[in-house]
Amino acid sequence: MTPIITSFYDTKPYDRDYFGRATLGANVAVRYNDFRLTAETAQSAEGAHAVCAFVNDHLDRACLAKLAALGVKLVALRCAGFNNVDVPAARELGLAVVRVPAYSPHAVAEHTVALLLTLNRKIHRAFNRVRELNFSLSGLVGFDLHGKTIGIVGTGKIGRIAAEIFRGFGTNVLACDPFPGPDWAESHGIRYEDFDTLLAASDIVSLHLPLLPETHHMLNERSLARMKPGVFILNTSRGKLIDTGALIASLKTGQVGGVALDVYEEEQGVFFEDLSGQVLQDDELSRLLTFPNVLITAHQAFLTHEALTEIARVTVANLAVASTRSWLDGTLLT
Ligand code: NAD
Repeated sequence: MTPIITSFYDTKPYDRDYFGRATLGANVAVRYNDFRLTAETAQSAEGAHAVCAFVNDHLDRACLAKLAALGVKLVALRCAGFNNVDVPAARELGLAVVRVPAYSPHAVAEHTVALLLTLNRKIHRAFNRVRELNFSLSGLVGFDLHGKTIGIVGTGKIGRIAAEIFRGFGTNVLACDPFPGPDWAESHGIRYEDFDTLLAASDIVSLHLPLLPETHHMLNERSLARMKPGVFILNTSRGKLIDTGALIASLKTGQVGGVALDVYEEEQGVFFEDLSGQVLQDDELSRLLTFPNVLITAHQAFLTHEALTEIARVTVANLAVASTRSWLDGTLLT
């Protein structure tokens, strides 16, 4: 049988490692590219049946049209979110889109908790200080999580696990979701509220929902002003859920007391790259990095052994299934 030639984009050593193992014995021929997939780089997919893309590849209509013209049949996302793909355009062009809807929601939920604990107890600052033999505690005061109120926006796979972990700290957990899970909430002592009530009542707000046209900049000047003064915000979902300019303004006034981000509005071309020898061109990211109460990781919440194993396994299975079903002409697998 002809192997499924798949052109991979934005690949890093860990992708090659896990996909190398997952494709052993599979009928998949892999072509790894370090660069991102965009309309400008799409020509590199020539001769491939499928492309395998990640969160910061940019599959707009122009990119998809080039892929379709080259004879590519399938877009296999090795991630859950698909906000970076123009799915209606893919459908029109006869390109199937598959993804990995769940690989390890625990990985992302646990990273969210790690960010909160680090930010609140200033572990990142303490680590640096102690390494320089500075054993002073000044400026390292945090707060007990016990008894605080945490608002979980989006109670899908990741939000629920995060909520359950936070309950273990003795926090009150509020939640909001257009598709609530009342039985789940009741069994964990969690209360659903509307978004505005959750914002007004929460000491910490954690985002666990997809980026959609209606959720773009859901934390903006208006909603940030409705939050409790000194609120902590956690975002491990998608950068564009938050209006960065408004967030910076709220940090400057102290309305927002702490921010932990694993995602950033303009992370494409920055996150996943070593830019340590360069001048950072993004002024908003530069400003965020100057706040002592802002903690940023570069979209690494998914990065566990279990998640990478599952991403590679499901992606290879998706490629095999799609090829045997005439490339699922224009269907999005969920
Ligand atoms: P999921 O689909 O299981 O859950 C998302 C939930 O958000 C759903 O219950 C949905 O009803 C809810 N939702 C939709 N619109 C909403 C709104 N306006 N207000 C409140 N809730 C709303 O998804 P998941 O697996 O839990 O993932 C959540 C997000 O995490 C993904 O969309 C993705 O962007 C992000 N993610 C990030 C990483 C990372 O490495 N940082 C990894 C995986 C996923």
